[in-house]
Amino acid sequence: MRIGMGYDIHRLVTGRKLVLGGVTIPYKKGLLGHSDADVLIHALCDALLGAIGQGDIGTHFPDTAPEFKDISSMIILAQTWDMVCAEGFSLENADTTIMAEQPKLAPYRTAMRQNIAGVMNTDPHCISIKATTTERLGMIGRGEGIGAMCVVLLTKKNSA
Ligand code: MG
Repeated sequence: MRIGMGYDIHRLVTGRKLVLGGVTIPYKKGLLGHSDADVLIHALCDALLGAIGQGDIGTHFPDTAPEFKDISSMIILAQTWDMVCAEGFSLENADTTIMAEQPKLAPYRTAMRQNIAGVMNTDPHCISIKATTTERLGMIGRGEGIGAMCVVLLTKKNSA
């Protein structure tokens, strides 16, 4: 068994789409980043890379690389998941928390789970997505950004 954790935060700005878990969410602002800045997927990728001891998302998908400019983070997830599978691991579960003061994310939770489960070829029930505000405290509470945390558990079957 291997456990991994991931954490990410991105700044909210005008003139960008808000993409979380591969779902474009109607909102007056979006997250700033080199890719589509899907903070949930970035936290998940870091957790997966941590579990297999392969560095972090910045190691494999540097924000200086033109090929990753504005790409969907679901492509980053697919490539990260390929690395996990190449090591012989499968996913037991992933548990995530999105920290955002606004907008309300509950209506998009099912679609996010299905998107992630689809890329990882797993059951949506293995993907947990929770959301919380920070009670208007700090940078997230002031609406300056959105953060996400993730824990994953991977297992490798012993070869007979
Ligand atoms: Mg990021």
